[in-house]
Order: sequence, then C-alpha cells, then structure tokens
Amino acid sequence: MSARAKVNARELLEKYSIKHPKEMNIRGIANEENLMIKEEDTKGHIGRIFIEGDAGIITIDSKIKEEGRKNFTIGHEFGHFRLAKEREFYCNNSDIMNFWQHKNHEQESNIFAAELLMPEEWIKQYVKWKGEALETLEEAAVMFGTTLSSMSLRYAECGKFPMAVIFSQDGRVKWTKISEDFPHQWIENGQKVNDYSKASEFYKGKDIGKEKDDILADAWFAKDRNFEKGKYFNEQNVAMKRLNAVITYVWEL
Ligand SMILES: [Zn+2]
Repeated sequence: MSARAKVNARELLEKYSIKHPKEMNIRGIANEENLMIKEEDTKGHIGRIFIEGDAGIITIDSKIKEEGRKNFTIGHEFGHFRLAKEREFYCNNSDIMNFWQHKNHEQESNIFAAELLMPEEWIKQYVKWKGEALETLEEAAVMFGTTLSSMSLRYAECGKFPMAVIFSQDGRVKWTKISEDFPHQWIENGQKVNDYSKASEFYKGKDIGKEKDDILADAWFAKDRNFEKGKYFNEQNVAMKRLNAVITYVWEL
C-alpha cells in the first residue's frame, strides 16, 4: 500500500516536472487536478475532503497559521483523493501527526504527502546537517514548505546524518523513527519517558528550552541490544504544550 502511495506521488512530480522544493506549489497542482481548496472553521477537524467523480473540495482549518502545516494538510487530503474510493474524509490532528498508526487510509495519505512534498532524493541532496537537529530540520521544513514533525520523520528515514526521532505524549513514547545507520534501533512504544532524558523534565512541569544537551544512553536505549553503559548522546527537544507532547532528537556526540 505504501508503494502505491509513493508511486502515485512521483507520477505527479513527473507530470508537472518539479525538480526542486522551491518549484513545488501544492495548491497549484491540486487546482490543476480538479481540487478546490477552501479555508474555514472545520469545527475540530484539521482538514477534510469531499470527492465527486474526478473532482473534489478540500477544506483546511482556518485556525492553522503555519504555511507548512497548511501544505502538509493539503497534501494529506490530496492523498485521499488520489488513493481512496470513498467520497469523503474528515481528518483530525492525530490522523496527520501519528504517522505509524494503523488506520490504513490515513497512513497512506501521509506517505503520499511526504513523498510529494519531500522526495527522498531532495532530502539527500538539499538538506545539509547544521551540527544540530533543530536548526537543520527547521530550516529544511521552511525550504520544503512542510511541518517540522513531517520533516523530522522524513529526515530520520532518508537524511544523511543518522538520528533518532522520538514523539512522546503524556509522558510515554508514542512513536519513533530511527535512521538505519544509528547505533540503537530499539525504543519500545508505550514506554515511560526515562528520568535520564531531558524530555522527562517537560513532563515534570519544567521549561526544557531548545538547546542541545548531553544525555546518557540510558535515557532512551537501555533496552537496546547495543546498549553501552556510560555512553553519551546529544538530545534536543521541541515541547508542544497544547498536546502535552515532545518531539525529541537524539544523535551521537
Ligand atoms: Zn485523512
């Protein structure tokens, strides 16, 4: 299923001869593909789509401020239009944030949006490591016109510099994405955020800032088979108070 989503997105990139993130105009492509885009109060959904034959209407929540979030939401709804047979979808924040959930249509729409906005070759070619995760990924998200969270996942998947991306909520790990070349591959979903991690301080009500910090491997990788006592990593966090969640980046010192 994910292969189908990827192929479908690549067909669009080819059809419109888009070769660089700056050339990507997702609204323009959506319009060319018979999709009208509206912004209004969606009453709790982040985006929705009504499909009628070979045309459709995408509505995104007018409360979304960031251009990148608007674009990724349009990409997600576009994915429903290209991939599903159903006539309508109502998508909430967790459909779009929680990449690895098992609701198939939501997952494949996210894969489609990621492939359309952040093709693997572009990530490899245009995203340069800046010495720390946040600066690298924030700049890349702006260049590609997408969200920090979707760029983080995509970079861990196919970027050049190995890292682990961990999304935790309410003090527990919800999902992780770890580069193939990173020395540890195992963090259990659902595990409590460990007291050795800087992210754990957020769940104790502290302001954790955005600076990188040294942390012991115990913070995240105690259950991994390559775990080494006394080894340090860099950790950097983005706290999201409204969701009671943190995106954590971990990379080697
Ligand atoms: Zn959806």
